[in-house]
Amino acid sequence: MKHKVLFYEELQDKIKCKLCPHNCIIGDNKFGICKVRTNSDNELFAVNYGEVTSIAIDPIEKKPLYHFKPSKNILSIGSFGCNMTCSFCQNYEISQNKPKTQYISIEELIKTIQTLENNVGIAFTYNEPFMWYEYMYDTAKKIKEYNKNIDVVIVTNGYINEEPLIKILPFVDAMNIDLKGYTNRYYNKICGAKLEPVLKTIKKCNEYCHVEITTLLVNDENDSLEETSQIAQFISDVNKDIPLHLSRYFPRYKMQNEATEIEKIIKAREEAKKYLNNVYIGNVQGVDNNTYCKKCGKLLIKRDGYITEVYIKNNKCSKCGEELNIII
Ligand code: SF4
Repeated sequence: MKHKVLFYEELQDKIKCKLCPHNCIIGDNKFGICKVRTNSDNELFAVNYGEVTSIAIDPIEKKPLYHFKPSKNILSIGSFGCNMTCSFCQNYEISQNKPKTQYISIEELIKTIQTLENNVGIAFTYNEPFMWYEYMYDTAKKIKEYNKNIDVVIVTNGYINEEPLIKILPFVDAMNIDLKGYTNRYYNKICGAKLEPVLKTIKKCNEYCHVEITTLLVNDENDSLEETSQIAQFISDVNKDIPLHLSRYFPRYKMQNEATEIEKIIKAREEAKKYLNNVYIGNVQGVDNNTYCKKCGKLLIKRDGYITEVYIKNNKCSKCGEELNIII
């Protein structure tokens, strides 16, 4: 559905979109880089408002969020469009193309959430949620007016300008933000973006809600120990307790490098653990992804694939009383 959007400026015969750091200048009947925001008679519209390409009930661990409502499910929903062009995109069918959609109203979504068991709320995910800004904002706000205990989660590349980010954050409970690498070379060449705005987003979100970070380690591109170390040090300066998910890359879409060696990912985790309290591995079976108390080593959360057992009461370690950064 076509819907008038927020955050733009009218120029002489063009429009400047101010939602994300691309700040596209868009001529009449043209689209921005995201392919969802368009200039029509000198007004800016999103063409994907309420248009859903994917909807599913996922374990929250799949987002991935490991320290937020562990073992619960979350209704996960996505549209189409993205402001990055990652060569390895796992969801390129919906991020770079316009597939078939179904319109779902906000009222329908809220009704659905209420009928689901073991479900904590809604996650905006699959494509880039900020390219669905107005629908996501309207939904998050209405959900919180209706029942503030329903959680709102965003899984994002973090490429958003500060003004729209600050507007939506009061309605958001948790985010997983990709930090795709730690060089502009990588962000430019592989993702069609810049590093600095993502770092700013991470810092800002940490002031408002629960944050976890994901880095896909791509063979021979961003998987040096030095780069992992820089990523971990940056996160540690923001908040040492932010969980970092180091995920294994497999060939996909335009990127044909071989899959990243598991040994490299294990070494990267050891490196990141020098700076961070919680570092997990994604897309690799048979590794220890449990959570242990950082003070006494007690097992707090046991994970086997998406089967999760939680051994926490009152957000404290039951053995040594250490305060935990886990929202249950
Ligand atoms: S949201 Fe889309 S149109 Fe707006 S600046 Fe970003 S890429 Fe360009």
